[in-house]
Amino acid sequence: MTTEKPVSTMNSANIQKGIFKINLQPNGSIVVPDVAESLIPLLRMAGADESLWQKHPCVVSVPSFPLLRQIDTGLNTSRLKNISTTNLWKIHKTGMEHLNQSQFFKSQNIPENTVNLLDLKIELATRLLSSCTICERRCKADRIKGEIGFCGLTDAVQVSAYSNLYNEGPLVGAPTFAIFVRGCSLRCSFCYRPQEREAKISDKMLPEELSNILDNASIQGARSWHFLGGNPDESLPSILRVLSLTKYPLPIIWNSALMLTPESIELLKGIVDIWLPDFKFGQNSCARDIACIDDYIKIITRNLAILRNEKNVVV
Ligand code: SF4
Repeated sequence: MTTEKPVSTMNSANIQKGIFKINLQPNGSIVVPDVAESLIPLLRMAGADESLWQKHPCVVSVPSFPLLRQIDTGLNTSRLKNISTTNLWKIHKTGMEHLNQSQFFKSQNIPENTVNLLDLKIELATRLLSSCTICERRCKADRIKGEIGFCGLTDAVQVSAYSNLYNEGPLVGAPTFAIFVRGCSLRCSFCYRPQEREAKISDKMLPEELSNILDNASIQGARSWHFLGGNPDESLPSILRVLSLTKYPLPIIWNSALMLTPESIELLKGIVDIWLPDFKFGQNSCARDIACIDDYIKIITRNLAILRNEKNVVV
């Protein structure tokens, strides 16, 4: 790739400061593996082959989660808070069984003041936050009351950046709209975005703000919404709240460490269209020394087994 114009002539207003990876190929060409929108002006000036980041569809064209809004749990919104968590889980199980029965989708409009399956997932996820067991760190912080968990988060989502990505592969399609969610329960010493795992209160977003950003990305032609970080797992309840407010839904890609508890994974089923979990370590001792997590192998193998019937799981 040769540069025809000196970089100093480029429009700096179009290019954000930041770090990006380049791979030097044996033939002397350069490949940029994660093309972010902010990089495109620079790549154009350098004469890069634009066909490499042309739009192509996501393997999933219809998102799953809007169907949850059509499933009537039989609960009234005014009674939801009074029902025990045990009973809510039973109702969730029945709702998920209905989700897998295609005839159920014929009932399009459920009555007002009725709790749909997405609302129920939000309620259950929020209950996990008050003595937090969203992830297997199980640090029991009361995030509802503002306590900060090991992951650095309270109950709000914190987003450090968002951008279209153009080179995430044919499964995900392009552009995929990436949302870099702050916070992480691991402490991997090799993390290439350590700044993302640090919580930063100034990046806190209201659900309405983030849902507007996602809807705008849909309108602008993104093919999917791609949650990554940091790690999105720990922000599960707030991300569900955001999705419930969106108007132009896209398929959901969940790119995570998958250190979730089984309950959290059950809540993500029916939401995620493409799972991209990491399998980071082959031995518990490595996971303990490098990422400060115990029982890594047991947790990740159990969680991958829970996903065995899900479509589109790429480890
Ligand atoms: S998600 Fe955060 S607060 Fe909750 S258990 Fe994990 S590390 Fe603790």
